[in-house]
Amino acid sequence: MTARATPTERADQLRVLGEKASACIACELHETRTNVVFGYGDPNADLMIVGEGPGQSEDEQGLPFVGRSGKLLDQLLDEIGLRRDTNCYIGNVVKCRPPGNRDPRQIEIDACADYLREQLRLVDPKVVVTLGNFSSKLLLKTETGITKLRGQEYKWWGRFLVPTFHPAAALRGSARVLAEMREDFQLVADVIAGKLVYEPNSTVDNSNADTEVAADASVVVEEPVDQMGLFQ
Ligand code: URA
Repeated sequence: MTARATPTERADQLRVLGEKASACIACELHETRTNVVFGYGDPNADLMIVGEGPGQSEDEQGLPFVGRSGKLLDQLLDEIGLRRDTNCYIGNVVKCRPPGNRDPRQIEIDACADYLREQLRLVDPKVVVTLGNFSSKLLLKTETGITKLRGQEYKWWGRFLVPTFHPAAALRGSARVLAEMREDFQLVADVIAGKLVYEPNSTVDNSNADTEVAADASVVVEEPVDQMGLFQ
């Protein structure tokens, strides 16, 4: 297993990885991007947020969640006492904007997977929040949609994962979507406050879930995070 990096080493290694990503040509998305959107925030955060991929504003600015969805995300973070650069790190499944905001293709997800895996390994958050159907289904390896998945925490690669709606859904949708996002962010606050504690030896872990509802999986996976089979 790789030794735990110190906070300074983590920050340095993330910076170097971000520089590498900024020159990445591993998939076709590099042909249409303006900027690579590697990630942003505190390299030692308890919370890591994983979105789908950059939109137009993110592509223009090279930063994740800076459009209208990002404003709402900032508000939800603020309500649990966090800021995007204080105890929080924000990344996406793919680092370059899919043209027209289409879903990332498998070949693009695969080309980018090592960046996300390394970000997770280095930041080593207590809790990961997946925003929306795409990243939630992908990371939990399930076909179950976000409406059913959300509302609970899942054990995932030695930490908790809390799936919730994408902020864009709350901006388009009813007050109910936003209220449910607030409930999900409260779970995050509970993990960070130590009210929900990850117990590695308990019998349910969703790291390898491929069942309809990931919560039903009953496999314990205690592999090191750098061997994480994220999307396979
Ligand atoms: N939507 C995402 O999934 N990620 C971003 O960075 C912005 C919008």
